[in-house]
Amino acid sequence: MKFSWRVLVLWTLPALVIGFFFWQGAFANVPADMGKNAANTRMTYGRFLEYLDSDRVTSVDLFEGGRTAIVEAVDPDIENRIQRWRVDLPISAPELISKLKEKQISFDAHPMRNDGAIWGLLGNLIFPILLITGLFFLFRRSSNLPGGPGQAMSFGKSRARFQMEAKTGVKFDDVAGIEEAKEELQEVVTFLKQPERFTAVGARIPKGVLLVGPPGTGKTLLAKAIAGEAGVPFFSISGSEFVEMFVGVGASRVRDLFKKAKDNAPCIIFIDEIDAVGRQRGAGIGGGNDEREQTLNQLLTEMDGFEGNTGIIIIAATNRPDVLDSALLRPGRFDRQVTVDAPDIKGRLEILSVHARNKKLDPSVSLEAIARRTPGFTGADLANLLNEAAILTARRRKDAITLREIDDAVDRVVAGMEGTPLVDSKSKRLIAYHEVGHALVGTLLKDHDPVQKVTLIPRGQAQGLTWFTPNEEQGLISRGQLKARITGALGGRAAEEVVFGAAEVTTGAGGDLQQLSGMARQMVTRFGMSDLGPLSLESQQGEVFLGRDWTTRSEYSEAIASRIDAQVRAIVEECYDNAKKLIRENRTVTDRIVDLLIEKETIDGEEFRQIVAEYTDVPDKAQYVPQL
Ligand code: ADP
Ligand code: MG
Ligand code: ZN
Repeated sequence: MKFSWRVLVLWTLPALVIGFFFWQGAFANVPADMGKNAANTRMTYGRFLEYLDSDRVTSVDLFEGGRTAIVEAVDPDIENRIQRWRVDLPISAPELISKLKEKQISFDAHPMRNDGAIWGLLGNLIFPILLITGLFFLFRRSSNLPGGPGQAMSFGKSRARFQMEAKTGVKFDDVAGIEEAKEELQEVVTFLKQPERFTAVGARIPKGVLLVGPPGTGKTLLAKAIAGEAGVPFFSISGSEFVEMFVGVGASRVRDLFKKAKDNAPCIIFIDEIDAVGRQRGAGIGGGNDEREQTLNQLLTEMDGFEGNTGIIIIAATNRPDVLDSALLRPGRFDRQVTVDAPDIKGRLEILSVHARNKKLDPSVSLEAIARRTPGFTGADLANLLNEAAILTARRRKDAITLREIDDAVDRVVAGMEGTPLVDSKSKRLIAYHEVGHALVGTLLKDHDPVQKVTLIPRGQAQGLTWFTPNEEQGLISRGQLKARITGALGGRAAEEVVFGAAEVTTGAGGDLQQLSGMARQMVTRFGMSDLGPLSLESQQGEVFLGRDWTTRSEYSEAIASRIDAQVRAIVEECYDNAKKLIRENRTVTDRIVDLLIEKETIDGEEFRQIVAEYTDVPDKAQYVPQL
């Protein structure tokens, strides 16, 4: 069972009450007015008589028909101060009264009251009652059958999971690098602030905006920024939170959310990961009329149920717009789609500037250099990167983040934690040849991305690493570049084989091989870059579970399949031969760089190229360095 506040409350409350009665139990038979002058300490009857005889007792109050007494007496143990005790009296002690009279001690008898009995009775009953109630609730909860619509509804309602932020505090200035998306959404702010401007000319204000993009690109942030700029409340819920164990809960949450939103209009409703509820209906495994469909139907109904000018705008986020139900995307619902992509180099620079605002950076750090080094990083990655760098800086007890911390943080974010370098050994030498093989082949091929650095410091799974400066800015990749990448990926294995012989090659190339096989296969089946001609033989496969695109998989005959295999093999063999040839022809410089690498652990790209240039021509790759 999932943790829930309801269960917690259900069980703590009785526990507290029961605890209270056990505690109360000690006085359960004592009348209420005795409680206020009740003494904490008890005294035996014998001791009481002793005190009486030695004239220490000053007053006696009798309770319960003379069965209990509160005795005030001078305590010799603590400097003769007056103390109070509680004494249980024997049932028949008639001589006591006469003794008290004789000693002229003030005494008083208090009448018996009935509260005691009532409290006692309640105390005895409360435990079974609570137990039964508790069991009843527990039973109702764990029952999988809904006990009728009313019950399920109130259930979803009291457990509403959406959050409301009256003020998000996020402004458009905090969102950087995704200018197009921002511009599109700027208009939404105007809708919220001045709806009259649009309604006056008869325009219908859009109800829903769908933000589409990979995780971490700032979709949530954008939605909050809209609310922040417009100064309206922000309701958020994740699609997965609609769907629960109970049938009908999702739908009732949707109703509840919209009701709250209407009460607080103008406002923004943000539905994160809408694909969790908004998938194409009637598809996939499980099919039919399930909980998710009911939730989606409710969502559609609610979206139709309010007019555009009520001032509620629904923003949803997803990274799978292709699986969404088409009913969600028709005009009048999420009729605007805004794409939020991973930022380009300029965007990264802007995002870095936003997140560098509250960080102490050494003046030598250039954010441009970081932006250049981090292709493919999303806004969340960059924020994380700067944070990691700041943590490293603090750990190294420096005052400001320097380039070294940034570099280490990038490496760490991309390739994992740093390990300890191997001691000089045959396997270290082999790893060095492997990495220098990648780097050398990459440097000598005109179409390959330039080497950024080679290192023997292990990271994550890798024993050594060769970093290239990827060239992301030109979206299209040529056949020559793909082949260069395959050759470069084979450079490691080629060096192992050329230097140590075919029998000595290692498993270290496993990852390389997997990667390059995938590339070679795609060249044949998707990009038409082989003798099979410009045909697309395989589409990118979606998950069967999603049910939408699993029937669109291309089919081809066995004969074609074996021709595909032959073509893939031919590409890889050609590249492998080329890689081995390059290593053999440059054996001298390879050996020299390996020695240097074992000594220094890391060589940067510039130095690498300079050494290679002493022996052979190095192609110029200026065109690969991304421009700002
Ligand atoms: P998503 O919802 O797209 O998965 P988030 O909006 O939750 O991504 O982003 C997570 C964090 O990453 C944000 O809180 C912010 O710190 C940072 N971030 C992401 N994109 C940007 C951006 N474009 N500009 C500034 N910061 C960003
Ligand atoms: Mg998000
Ligand atoms: Zn490798």
